[in-house]
Amino acid sequence: MVLAQLGGSLSRALARMTSATVVDEKVLGDCLNEITRALLQADVQFDMVRDMQASVKRAVDLGALAAGTDKRRVIKTAVFDELCNMVDAGKPAFAPKKGKPCVVMFVGLQGSGKTTTCMKYAHYHQKIGFKPALVCADTFRAGAFDQLKQNATKIMVPFYGSYMESDPVKIAVEGVERFRKENCDLIIVDTSGRHKQEASLFEEMRQVSEATKPDLVIFVMDGSIGQAAFAQAQAFRQSVPVGAVIVTKMDGHAKGGGALSAVAATKSPVIFIGTGEHKDELEDFDVRPFVGRLLGMGDLPGLLNKARQVVSTDQQPDLMKRLMEGNFTLRVMYEQFQNLGKIGSIGQIFSMLPGFSSGLMPQGHEKQGEAKIKRYMTMMDSMTDAELDSADPKLMKESRIVRIARGSGRPVRDVLDMLEEYKRLAKMWSNVIKRLRKSNKGNTNA
Ligand code: GDP
Repeated sequence: MVLAQLGGSLSRALARMTSATVVDEKVLGDCLNEITRALLQADVQFDMVRDMQASVKRAVDLGALAAGTDKRRVIKTAVFDELCNMVDAGKPAFAPKKGKPCVVMFVGLQGSGKTTTCMKYAHYHQKIGFKPALVCADTFRAGAFDQLKQNATKIMVPFYGSYMESDPVKIAVEGVERFRKENCDLIIVDTSGRHKQEASLFEEMRQVSEATKPDLVIFVMDGSIGQAAFAQAQAFRQSVPVGAVIVTKMDGHAKGGGALSAVAATKSPVIFIGTGEHKDELEDFDVRPFVGRLLGMGDLPGLLNKARQVVSTDQQPDLMKRLMEGNFTLRVMYEQFQNLGKIGSIGQIFSMLPGFSSGLMPQGHEKQGEAKIKRYMTMMDSMTDAELDSADPKLMKESRIVRIARGSGRPVRDVLDMLEEYKRLAKMWSNVIKRLRKSNKGNTNA
């Protein structure tokens, strides 16, 4: 995913600033210039980048900071907050509620991934107990109804459409009425993405919207369209009341900037991103974890959430307890590696872990990272229980290191590399735990 490049450039800019001996206006300026370049290369709209830069400068008045203030932290926080502001629409999208019928209309250009996303959206909600239905109001494109039908059948969701009827408004209204009667609580209306004349496409969308009175209009956008995103999103916004955005094809060459621009143009939040063609490849989108991952700061709450989904309920208290104790032994690291395999693609998971994205698992190099983890696990298989359960680095004397290397058939330098990585992670983990405890305390006090 090219988004990883943006992440890499942003975290490098921050890392350079962090490692500067003295943080002054020049270091801040260089850091901001680097961030600006990275965002522009990622296709974020120029005005947005300029505003972001100005806001960080306003938030960080180096001259006015009290002596002893951690300037690096102030700058990092300001960059983080301003990037969040760029992606944050400032208001949540309408959220369907189980058992309470609602209509969600999908709009977007042909080829953006609209029909596929309708199916994924239906499937996502079906998995959490909704009763969705799909209506094909695209009478323009030959084959549209067949495509929706196939998709609906794949996920076993009822559908409505017609091969004969040419009036999309009529079909949309009929479909919505039928599924209301059938007590479906999530009626999804797929609309046409292209017309001979653009003006008539927007007029058609407006009519469908007026006739079906959707609770939510979702604008679907191909994440790889780059700078064109802003104008495209704005054009849709002017015709129908867009309330949310889904950005598709984020698994491909999307640079990510388009997504930020769409939020600015529609003043609506991104609620999901599409990361593949299959029914499960739709990911929840939350601003702060997204930006955290971009900056290599990790997304611990997101990771814990994912872990909860796969670790059996009876093991959960133990896992959470050990994670929170911060006693990061080699065995804990080993078990994390094992669990990560279960949760999903290791690369995806590791981008959620603070520090992993920049070290063990650099964004964009997940394959090499995965191979490295497998190597680490082989070496750990040659360790004794005492070695795995000790958090004391002094235990790992030369003789033990040589034995592990021999036992696993790896060179000594690989074992040393693994132990170094372990030390780095253990340190980082303890920092994360401290931060989490602090924020928990803050929440309890609030
Ligand atoms: P529509 O014309 O907007 O309804 O677009 P479709 O749903 O027909 O999708 C166009 C193409 O994009 C199809 O080949 C889809 O399989 C593909 N597609 C849709 N979403 C994604 C995604 O998130 N990732 C990838 N890689 N392909 C996608």
